[in-house]
Amino acid sequence: MNPKIEVSGLRKSFGALTVLRDINLTVEPGAVVALIGPSGSGKSTLLRCLNLLVIPEGGKVRIGESSFSFGDSSKLPGVREQARFRSNTGMVFQHFNLFPHMSVLQNVMEGPLSVKNMPKAEAQALARRLLAKVGLSDKVDVFPNKLSGGQKQRVAIARALAMEPEVMLFDEATSALDPELVGEVLGVMRDLAAEGMTMIIVTHEMGFAREVADRVIFMRDGVIVEEGPAREVIENPVQDATRAFLSHFH
Ligand code: ADP
Ligand code: MG
Repeated sequence: MNPKIEVSGLRKSFGALTVLRDINLTVEPGAVVALIGPSGSGKSTLLRCLNLLVIPEGGKVRIGESSFSFGDSSKLPGVREQARFRSNTGMVFQHFNLFPHMSVLQNVMEGPLSVKNMPKAEAQALARRLLAKVGLSDKVDVFPNKLSGGQKQRVAIARALAMEPEVMLFDEATSALDPELVGEVLGVMRDLAAEGMTMIIVTHEMGFAREVADRVIFMRDGVIVEEGPAREVIENPVQDATRAFLSHFH
């Protein structure tokens, strides 16, 4: 089977700071990859390159049927092409980024309505179905400021799913949550994984990564230092740098 995500030779700098150096990565359909590494290692930048929130300087990204090559600025994707490419991925951030002036239901309907021109009744049915899936059927008419962090993050996941993305990207989705709310969000992510969603998860939840991820990728200073089956990398890392990083979690 063709990989769902294929990244080759990806490079990105911010001024003099090189953040990604020749990143190569493939993710099989339905696989869950946990991306781990110290703060500043380039994890968020890598995810952002996958949905063009950051434009890399070189390399190639393919998601499903769509691909982009970077490097030749004259061939950079136009705004429309970028938007179409971006809709292949659903991204969930540490800070939920919900629309504060919209109800939970409107938050989830907004993408399908405005980007996909979905008829209102259809968008509403889709949003209700997704909110039921994340356990928030009783919150559809509530505004975000009345929700707990865990509930907000579950709305954010439903909102990302509403665009029917090929892959889901999670950037420390539980890092801003009170400890007692982490489990409900991880539970939704676990369900998605079980349904066969292809996912890349940046996380510090090593227990979750070991259980739910198929593969773990350890990054440091813009380089993939080690990758392999989740259990192997987390329980028996080969590289000193991986071992040193993981020792902080025991
Ligand atoms: P991680 O998610 O692993 O903590 P990031 O990808 O956020 O790492 O950041 C990698 C490095 O790139 C850091 O040194 C960070 O300060 C820098 N960086 C990230 N985004 C920008 C930006 N927009 N402008 C300048 N520097 C940035
Ligand atoms: Mg980050």
